[in-house]
Amino acid sequence: MIVVENLHRHFGGFRAVDGASLEIRTGSITGLIGPNGAGKTTLFNVIAGRLPPTSGRVLMDGEDITGLPPHELFHKGLLRTFQIAHEFGSMTCLENLMMVPARQKGETLMNAWFNRAAVAEEEERIRQKAKDVLEFLTISHLSEQKAGQISGGQKKLLELGRTMMVDAKIVFLDEVGAGVNRTLLNTIGDAIVRLNKERGYTFCVIEHDMDFIARLCDPVICMAEGKVLAQGTVDQVKNDERVIEAYLGT
Ligand code: ADP
Repeated sequence: MIVVENLHRHFGGFRAVDGASLEIRTGSITGLIGPNGAGKTTLFNVIAGRLPPTSGRVLMDGEDITGLPPHELFHKGLLRTFQIAHEFGSMTCLENLMMVPARQKGETLMNAWFNRAAVAEEEERIRQKAKDVLEFLTISHLSEQKAGQISGGQKKLLELGRTMMVDAKIVFLDEVGAGVNRTLLNTIGDAIVRLNKERGYTFCVIEHDMDFIARLCDPVICMAEGKVLAQGTVDQVKNDERVIEAYLGT
């Protein structure tokens, strides 16, 4: 689904991403690992249109999407999860989901703006979809809670829920496990697997928790110093001498 070709992103003279090439297969849950400073987040930022590359290409289903802004990638179904913005913290979880703009035309409240009956119908459809998403993620009980008051792990689930409002094709998840307790991390892992199996989502996941990666991801790609060091099953990558060396060197 995604092909990254010889991607570079430099900051001044520093090569944060230094000729990375990789593929994310359709239908996979691909794990991206590597020591701190390896360039993983920068790579995500370039793929997701947050940062222009210095050079190199990103293709999605064969189409060159290099440097497209996030909203255009959004329309193509490529999403990167983001922390719930501060200003949405005072809205309920349900409202947060309802605020996600539609990906396809004809699905927006705006389109129905001048027709009251259509607005009411559309709002009800979106509300129902948001409720279904909360149920899928097993957080229906948080529906009326303010998004700013739920736990870090619950926020991650809500962020995942936002991608479900638009039926994403590929989702980039950055450090799902950071500061999340084990039970909730399992719930998040289950949601990712179900979205992958039942809804056909492709995922690329940056995560430091190797148990989480081992449970979910195949293949695993390891980056170090801006380059792809190794790729394969979690065991192949974990036992790769270059990978071991890269982690020991940090
Ligand atoms: P990772 O996610 O693997 O920990 P990052 O992509 O966050 O790695 O960072 C890779 C390197 O690029 C780091 O050394 C970081 O300091 C540097 N870097 C990231 N963003 C910037 C920036 N905006 N300006 C300068 N250096 C940056």
